Amino acid sequence: MQSLRTYKQKRHFDRSPEPKPEKKPGKPRRLFVVQKHRARNLHYDFRLEAGGVLKSWAVPKGPSTDPKVKRLAMAVEDHPLDYANFEGVIPEGEYGGGTVMVWDQGTYEPENGENIGSLLKKGELKLTLKGKKLKGSWVLVRTRDRNWLLIKHRDRFASEDELTVTSPASVLTRRTLAEIASEEGGNVEKAATGDPRSTPRSSRETRSRK
Ligand code: MN
Repeated sequence: MQSLRTYKQKRHFDRSPEPKPEKKPGKPRRLFVVQKHRARNLHYDFRLEAGGVLKSWAVPKGPSTDPKVKRLAMAVEDHPLDYANFEGVIPEGEYGGGTVMVWDQGTYEPENGENIGSLLKKGELKLTLKGKKLKGSWVLVRTRDRNWLLIKHRDRFASEDELTVTSPASVLTRRTLAEIASEEGGNVEKAATGDPRSTPRSSRETRSRK
Protein backbone atom coordinates (compact mmCIF):
# COMPACT_ATOMS: atom_id res chain seq x y z
CA MET A 1 0.00 0.00 0.00
CA GLN A 2 1.44 3.32 -1.08
CA SER A 3 2.01 5.83 1.72
CA LEU A 4 1.04 9.47 1.92
CA ARG A 5 4.58 10.60 1.00
CA THR A 6 3.62 11.95 -2.43
CA TYR A 7 0.61 13.73 -0.94
CA LYS A 8 2.90 15.39 1.62
CA GLN A 9 5.60 16.31 -0.91
CA LYS A 10 3.14 18.18 -3.13
CA ARG A 11 1.62 20.41 -0.48
CA HIS A 12 2.46 23.22 1.97
CA PHE A 13 0.27 22.70 5.02
CA ASP A 14 1.15 26.12 6.38
CA ARG A 15 -0.44 27.66 3.26
CA SER A 16 -3.25 25.27 2.33
CA PRO A 17 -6.24 24.38 4.55
CA GLU A 18 -6.12 20.77 3.30
CA PRO A 19 -5.83 17.96 5.91
CA LYS A 20 -2.34 16.93 7.06
CA PRO A 21 -1.04 13.55 5.87
CA GLU A 22 -2.07 11.42 8.83
CA LYS A 23 -2.65 7.75 8.33
CA LYS A 24 -5.46 6.69 10.63
CA PRO A 25 -5.67 3.20 12.06
CA GLY A 26 -9.04 1.85 13.06
CA LYS A 27 -12.03 0.06 11.71
CA PRO A 28 -12.37 0.44 7.93
CA ARG A 29 -15.67 2.03 7.01
CA ARG A 30 -15.18 1.63 3.25
CA LEU A 31 -15.97 5.25 2.72
CA PHE A 32 -16.08 6.74 -0.74
CA VAL A 33 -16.16 10.37 -1.75
CA VAL A 34 -16.29 12.27 -5.01
CA GLN A 35 -14.84 15.77 -4.83
CA LYS A 36 -15.56 18.27 -7.56
CA HIS A 37 -12.40 20.29 -8.00
CA ARG A 38 -11.97 23.39 -10.12
CA ALA A 39 -8.17 23.60 -10.34
CA ARG A 40 -6.48 24.37 -13.68
CA ASN A 41 -9.31 22.28 -15.12
CA LEU A 42 -12.56 21.09 -13.68
CA HIS A 43 -12.44 17.42 -12.67
CA TYR A 44 -13.96 15.01 -10.17
CA ASP A 45 -11.70 13.24 -7.67
CA PHE A 46 -13.02 9.74 -6.96
CA ARG A 47 -11.67 8.33 -3.67
CA LEU A 48 -12.11 4.97 -1.93
CA GLU A 49 -11.04 4.14 1.62
CA ALA A 50 -8.57 1.23 1.62
CA GLY A 51 -5.66 0.43 3.93
CA GLY A 52 -6.12 3.52 6.10
CA VAL A 53 -5.92 6.01 3.22
CA LEU A 54 -8.10 7.22 0.34
CA LYS A 55 -7.06 5.59 -2.96
CA SER A 56 -7.68 8.33 -5.53
CA TRP A 57 -8.45 8.88 -9.21
CA ALA A 58 -9.06 12.12 -11.10
CA VAL A 59 -12.03 11.77 -13.45
CA PRO A 60 -11.94 14.70 -15.90
CA LYS A 61 -15.58 14.39 -17.01
CA GLY A 62 -16.97 13.01 -13.77
CA PRO A 63 -18.78 9.70 -13.25
CA SER A 64 -21.51 8.76 -15.73
CA THR A 65 -24.51 6.66 -14.74
CA ASP A 66 -24.92 5.60 -18.39
CA PRO A 67 -23.45 2.06 -18.85
CA LYS A 68 -22.56 2.94 -22.46
CA VAL A 69 -20.23 5.72 -21.27
CA LYS A 70 -16.69 4.88 -20.09
CA ARG A 71 -15.07 7.68 -18.14
CA LEU A 72 -11.29 8.04 -17.94
CA ALA A 73 -10.04 7.93 -14.35
CA MET A 74 -6.36 8.82 -13.80
CA ALA A 75 -4.83 7.25 -10.68
CA VAL A 76 -3.35 9.97 -8.47
CA GLU A 77 -1.63 9.98 -5.08
CA ASP A 78 -3.24 8.50 -1.96
CA HIS A 79 -4.98 11.06 0.25
CA PRO A 80 -5.51 10.99 4.03
CA LEU A 81 -8.91 9.79 5.27
CA ASP A 82 -9.70 13.24 6.67
CA TYR A 83 -9.71 14.55 3.11
CA ALA A 84 -13.15 12.97 2.62
CA ASN A 85 -14.78 15.93 4.37
CA PHE A 86 -12.60 18.64 2.86
CA GLU A 87 -14.58 21.35 1.12
CA GLY A 88 -13.06 24.76 0.61
CA VAL A 89 -10.41 26.72 -1.22
CA ILE A 90 -6.81 25.70 -1.92
CA PRO A 91 -4.85 28.94 -2.41
CA GLU A 92 -3.81 29.84 -5.97
CA GLY A 93 -0.18 28.93 -6.59
CA GLU A 94 -0.39 25.90 -4.29
CA TYR A 95 -0.72 22.37 -5.66
CA GLY A 96 -4.31 21.91 -6.91
CA GLY A 97 -5.08 25.59 -6.26
CA GLY A 98 -8.83 26.22 -6.65
CA THR A 99 -12.18 25.31 -5.15
CA VAL A 100 -13.13 21.86 -3.82
CA MET A 101 -16.66 20.56 -3.21
CA VAL A 102 -17.83 17.30 -1.65
CA TRP A 103 -20.01 16.32 -4.60
CA ASP A 104 -20.96 12.87 -3.29
CA GLN A 105 -20.16 10.73 -0.27
CA GLY A 106 -21.18 7.34 1.10
CA THR A 107 -19.88 3.82 1.50
CA TYR A 108 -18.94 1.10 -0.97
CA GLU A 109 -18.83 -2.68 -1.02
CA PRO A 110 -16.39 -4.61 -3.22
CA GLU A 111 -18.14 -7.21 -5.42
CA ASN A 112 -15.25 -9.34 -6.71
CA GLY A 113 -13.18 -9.96 -3.57
CA GLU A 114 -12.43 -8.54 -0.13
CA ASN A 115 -8.81 -7.48 -0.50
CA ILE A 116 -9.05 -4.05 -2.13
CA GLY A 117 -5.26 -3.74 -2.39
CA SER A 118 -4.94 -6.90 -4.47
CA LEU A 119 -7.98 -6.06 -6.62
CA LEU A 120 -6.39 -2.70 -7.42
CA LYS A 121 -3.08 -4.39 -8.16
CA LYS A 122 -4.88 -6.69 -10.57
CA GLY A 123 -6.52 -3.68 -12.13
CA GLU A 124 -10.18 -4.54 -11.72
CA LEU A 125 -12.42 -3.54 -8.85
CA LYS A 126 -16.15 -4.15 -9.10
CA LEU A 127 -18.00 -2.23 -6.45
CA THR A 128 -21.43 -1.23 -5.20
CA LEU A 129 -21.69 2.44 -4.32
CA LYS A 130 -24.08 3.63 -1.65
CA GLY A 131 -23.80 7.37 -2.02
CA LYS A 132 -26.33 10.16 -2.01
CA LYS A 133 -25.97 10.51 -5.79
CA LEU A 134 -23.99 7.50 -7.06
CA LYS A 135 -25.64 4.17 -6.35
CA GLY A 136 -25.56 0.58 -7.53
CA SER A 137 -22.91 -1.44 -9.33
CA TRP A 138 -19.79 0.05 -10.98
CA VAL A 139 -16.37 -1.12 -12.14
CA LEU A 140 -12.95 0.50 -12.08
CA VAL A 141 -10.72 -1.20 -14.63
CA ARG A 142 -7.12 -0.34 -15.49
CA THR A 143 -6.26 0.05 -19.16
CA ARG A 144 -2.57 0.97 -18.86
CA ASP A 145 -0.22 2.62 -16.37
CA ARG A 146 -2.21 5.19 -14.40
CA ASN A 147 -5.17 5.10 -16.77
CA TRP A 148 -8.35 3.47 -15.54
CA LEU A 149 -11.96 3.53 -16.72
CA LEU A 150 -14.93 4.09 -14.42
CA ILE A 151 -18.03 2.40 -15.81
CA LYS A 152 -21.59 1.96 -14.54
CA HIS A 153 -23.04 -1.55 -14.69
CA ARG A 154 -26.60 -2.10 -15.85
CA ASP A 155 -28.98 -2.06 -12.90
CA ARG A 156 -31.92 -0.03 -11.67
CA PHE A 157 -29.63 2.92 -10.91
CA ALA A 158 -28.34 3.17 -14.48
CA SER A 159 -29.56 6.29 -16.25
CA GLU A 160 -28.75 8.49 -19.23
CA ASP A 161 -29.11 11.58 -17.05
CA GLU A 162 -25.82 13.36 -16.40
CA LEU A 163 -25.78 13.65 -12.61
CA THR A 164 -22.95 16.18 -12.83
CA VAL A 165 -25.45 18.47 -14.58
CA THR A 166 -28.74 17.56 -12.89
CA SER A 167 -27.25 17.40 -9.41
CA PRO A 168 -24.28 19.80 -9.33
CA ALA A 169 -24.19 20.94 -5.69
CA SER A 170 -22.41 19.80 -2.52
CA VAL A 171 -23.94 16.89 -0.56
CA LEU A 172 -22.46 18.38 2.63
CA THR A 173 -23.57 22.00 2.34
CA ARG A 174 -25.79 22.24 -0.78
CA ARG A 175 -23.47 24.95 -2.07
CA THR A 176 -22.37 25.40 -5.68
CA LEU A 177 -18.65 25.79 -6.47
CA ALA A 178 -19.12 29.55 -6.86
CA GLU A 179 -20.83 29.77 -3.47
CA ILE A 180 -17.99 27.85 -1.81
CA ALA A 181 -15.43 30.14 -3.47
CA SER A 182 -17.40 33.21 -2.47
CA GLU A 183 -17.76 32.21 1.18
CA GLU A 184 -14.22 30.92 1.61
CA GLY A 185 -12.17 33.59 -0.12
CA GLY A 186 -11.63 31.86 -3.46
CA ASN A 187 -11.85 32.97 -7.08
CA VAL A 188 -15.61 33.11 -7.70
CA GLU A 189 -15.40 33.68 -11.48
CA LYS A 190 -13.10 30.71 -11.95
CA ALA A 191 -15.20 28.49 -9.65
CA ALA A 192 -18.40 29.49 -11.47
CA THR A 193 -17.10 27.90 -14.68
CA GLY A 194 -17.51 24.57 -12.87
CA ASP A 195 -21.19 25.18 -12.13
CA PRO A 196 -23.29 23.93 -15.05
CA ARG A 197 -26.33 26.10 -15.70
CA SER A 198 -25.64 28.11 -12.59
CA THR A 199 -26.08 31.82 -12.31
CA PRO A 200 -24.48 34.18 -9.80
CA ARG A 201 -26.22 34.23 -6.43
CA SER A 202 -27.51 37.79 -6.92
CA SER A 203 -29.38 37.12 -10.17
CA ARG A 204 -30.69 33.81 -8.89
CA GLU A 205 -32.13 35.49 -5.82
CA THR A 206 -33.70 38.09 -8.08
CA ARG A 207 -35.25 35.35 -10.15
CA SER A 208 -36.57 33.45 -7.13
CA ARG A 209 -38.30 36.58 -5.80
CA LYS A 210 -40.42 36.89 -8.94
MN1 MN B 1 -8.16 17.20 -7.77
